[in-house]
Amino acid sequence: MLSNDELGLWDRESFFHPSTNLGQFARGEAPQRIVTGGEGVHITDRDGNRLLDGFAGLYCVNVGYGRQEIAEAIAEQARELAYYHAYAGNGSEVAITLAKMVMDRAPEGMARVYFGLGGSDANETNVKLVWYYNNIRGLPQKKKIISRWRGYHGSGLMTGSLTGLELFHKKFDLPLAQVIHTEAPYYFRRKDAGMTEEDFSAHCAEQLEQLIVAEGPDTIAAFIGEPVLGTGGIVPPPKGYWDAIQKVLARHDILLIADEVVTGFGRLGSMFGSDHYGIKPDLITCAKGLTSAYAPLSATIVGQRVWDVLMQGTDENGVFGHGWTYSAHPIGAAAGVANLKLIDELGLVANAGEVGAYLNAEMTKVLGDHPNVGEVRGEGMLCAVELVENRDTRAFFDPSAGVGGKAVAAMLKRGVIARAMPQGDIIGFAPPLCLTRSEADTIVSVTAEAVREVL
Ligand code: PLP
Repeated sequence: MLSNDELGLWDRESFFHPSTNLGQFARGEAPQRIVTGGEGVHITDRDGNRLLDGFAGLYCVNVGYGRQEIAEAIAEQARELAYYHAYAGNGSEVAITLAKMVMDRAPEGMARVYFGLGGSDANETNVKLVWYYNNIRGLPQKKKIISRWRGYHGSGLMTGSLTGLELFHKKFDLPLAQVIHTEAPYYFRRKDAGMTEEDFSAHCAEQLEQLIVAEGPDTIAAFIGEPVLGTGGIVPPPKGYWDAIQKVLARHDILLIADEVVTGFGRLGSMFGSDHYGIKPDLITCAKGLTSAYAPLSATIVGQRVWDVLMQGTDENGVFGHGWTYSAHPIGAAAGVANLKLIDELGLVANAGEVGAYLNAEMTKVLGDHPNVGEVRGEGMLCAVELVENRDTRAFFDPSAGVGGKAVAAMLKRGVIARAMPQGDIIGFAPPLCLTRSEADTIVSVTAEAVREVL
């Protein structure tokens, strides 16, 4: 077996890590962790640590680690049929079964599901579908997509453009011209004095409408949003937000893409975030929770309104020219089927709602009054603690102080993984949906100790 030193060297000299500070990593100045195993909500690493994963990997290991049912389903599928493509009407029993299971769980008004590999490609598919839809309708100029600042939708060319975080644009020549951004529904940060949540939602809807009118409604094809802003800071929408936004979209014939990569399959305590907030999307993006990351798979769920137009154009357009080699990969589908069964059997959607509410309530109880905690917020099994220099003015810390990162590092020393969200000093939590109350207690007490250590 390789020594830790050898492996560490190979890692630094061979492996181009995603979303990593390249220089610091190559020079051995950045953290390096080699993960060896996982069980329930814990992972283990080569240094002998056992860590409570308060972020479920990247909000994705929803059923927890080490689920033998899923591992066995994957192995059995690999032995029986590891791969056959899904082009030109081909398929596998397992992919068809998963399609039926997804449609049985999807919000009302959905017509078909298209499978890809991850959240980014599913959003690429969604944008292409929106453009295809408007071309069939004879509206070739109606193509721009509106996204929100602080939204996260992936890091491809189009999806990185949709993402509203500077880190994902800088030096990549993004965003592309077809993408424009509007106000984030970030009540805590963006409200003016005296604004209620409802006022702020109305303000966001007004901003959106002004943008649409300024650009020309006949140029805007779709609006994309996560039911709860995820990577942008774990920000649940203010009251009335989705209602107000949907009214604007309806007035201007603009499609709604609900990016449910994080919220799909239970994270908010409802099967979909769209059900949770009364969103009626035309397209839904899913990934992470679909397989709990036991294998890569994404799903684009297509609403009836879009599907009807695709069908209208089909005789003229012939083959729908969009597909991935690994669309509906049988191994991903096997993981998906076993994962969705497990979510049902273990009642994990309800658990996400109950234990998530407990986690949020306890975090608020313990840290809500801390002089450097601006806000504790969350929904279902999502929670965030936003650190501020001054509670009254909501003033940020100097970013170079890295206060959020220091707090997360202090938690790690105590055996709990949280995520320093990429913009602002925000400690994020998205634990596996199987979290227990006592594990939630551990997360809360460790967060409180870490915040007190750093501030
Ligand atoms: N959409 C949302 C809401 C996400 O949170 C993510 C990833 O975190 C993506 C899309 C992109 O998914 P992937 O990283 O699988 O491409």
